[in-house]
Amino acid sequence: MKVVCLSGGVGGAKLVAGLHDVLGAGELTVIGNVGDDLEVLGLHVSPDLDSVLYGLAGLNDTERGWGRAGETWQALESARAWGGEDWFMLGDRDLGLHLVRTQALRSGERLSEITERLVRTTGLATRLLPVTDDRVRTHVVTPAGRFAFQEWFVARRHEDEVDALLYEGAEDATPAPGVVEALESADTIVIAPSNPFVSIHPILAVPGITRAVEARRARSVAVSPLIGGKAVRGPLDRMMLRLLGGTSPAHVKRCYEGLLDVLVIDGADASATSDGHVVVTDTLMDDRDAARRLARTTLEAAMDGTS
Ligand code: GDP
Ligand code: CA
Repeated sequence: MKVVCLSGGVGGAKLVAGLHDVLGAGELTVIGNVGDDLEVLGLHVSPDLDSVLYGLAGLNDTERGWGRAGETWQALESARAWGGEDWFMLGDRDLGLHLVRTQALRSGERLSEITERLVRTTGLATRLLPVTDDRVRTHVVTPAGRFAFQEWFVARRHEDEVDALLYEGAEDATPAPGVVEALESADTIVIAPSNPFVSIHPILAVPGITRAVEARRARSVAVSPLIGGKAVRGPLDRMMLRLLGGTSPAHVKRCYEGLLDVLVIDGADASATSDGHVVVTDTLMDDRDAARRLARTTLEAAMDGTS
């Protein structure tokens, strides 16, 4: 079975790890968001691709919820002491990856090639593709002005309400090699429980991606990132209230109009919908077992359609 999963960072990475575990070697392709990418201290950082990579390889810090386990912060402390920028948290272990990636980009390698090489280094058979090798940058429009995504999310602690999102560069971007082909040949397309506005829409904004999902021969399923109408963490519930007027399963579906056959929701949201095209289960992934269970249910939901 060929499964393609569209994923953002930490929330998506949990389901990706579950899918990886329950599928056979080589059956899973992940298409990752690059709208959060940025340059820090001269290094190219791809936070969402790295969350998926760390999650797959079991290198992620499950307590803190992001970055690598066993992390230390000496390089960042040193940079700070030398007057360098220190607003974006880069750990020592994490930095090693950014050094390797940045060097490869400077020597002319494409982001998709480097990412493939990084995954191969871990020995994993899952494929991870950035949606594009071109530059796409998410910006948010807020009452306090327009901000680059990480400036709003990290530096301003996503406190400003969001009135609109812009995916700068997306219109002129080209899907990375293999992305459209993977969608076209998939048996199942999974949209991970990532933030639709800042993780999935910037993937869909790259020309050809939305069309490939709309024209799918595969069954398509999304897992809702909300539990009881609330984000497990992060600003999604506030964003949905302001941008869509609610946080029910129907509002989640509106984020993916024409792209879904079925939506997987948590039991805490079951009473908020009478829709037939939903499957209700426990969607909190507090460990890898829970992620595997949800991955199985999600794949079954796609095959059955409705239940
Ligand atoms: P980011 O790119 O690191 O911000 O992460 P994503 O966009 O991939 O995921 C963020 C979303 O994941 C948030 O809206 C959370 O509500 C959701 N999320 C995190 N953990 C879980 C979980 O265990 N279950 C579900 N259903 N959603 C989760
Ligand atoms: Ca992200």
